[in-house]
Amino acid sequence: MSRHRRLGHGPTHARRRARTVEEEHDMATTKQKLGTAGEELVAKHARCPGCKRTDKSFKLLPPNFKCADLVCDFCGYLAQVKSKRIKGELPDTITGTILGAAWGPQRERMEAGIYFSLYVVLVNEVGQASIYFLPRDLQTAEMFVPRKSLGPEARRAGWQGFMIDMDKAMADVVRISDGDVEEFVLRA
Ligand SMILES: [Zn+2]
Repeated sequence: MSRHRRLGHGPTHARRRARTVEEEHDMATTKQKLGTAGEELVAKHARCPGCKRTDKSFKLLPPNFKCADLVCDFCGYLAQVKSKRIKGELPDTITGTILGAAWGPQRERMEAGIYFSLYVVLVNEVGQASIYFLPRDLQTAEMFVPRKSLGPEARRAGWQGFMIDMDKAMADVVRISDGDVEEFVLRA
């Protein structure tokens, strides 16, 4: 916010840069909105795999909470949520890769033997969504593939992310039966 204001009042070249920063910000915001909407969708539709309560006990963790996105407020079960846009019909399982997050913390957790169950929300272009689940017990270290660090020109230079390769899990990702949604709405 403060960065926008500073650049916005600067000379012409700074204003041109400001648009770039704002575009990046818009993209980040759109991505974040999709992420939050995916988390809300899982909390609304998925029952906790730990305690099996039917009263939808998952609550969203704060956005700056690093290791997980959802916590069951009855039994403490933690889960991560990834959301992805796709084209066409929602598949029965997920093949290929989805975008992970920061590699450093993920690598450290894996070295400590810590894995979190993963929900994936796929959304197609007509606003249908479905929820998929891969419990931590079926995850492997090979699934989590580090990417190249961002170059010196990048806004987050040196930052390293990872991909999640679904084909390297011990079993297929499951499309959960109470997680199909006809209309997926991103709030403005
Ligand atoms: Zn629970």
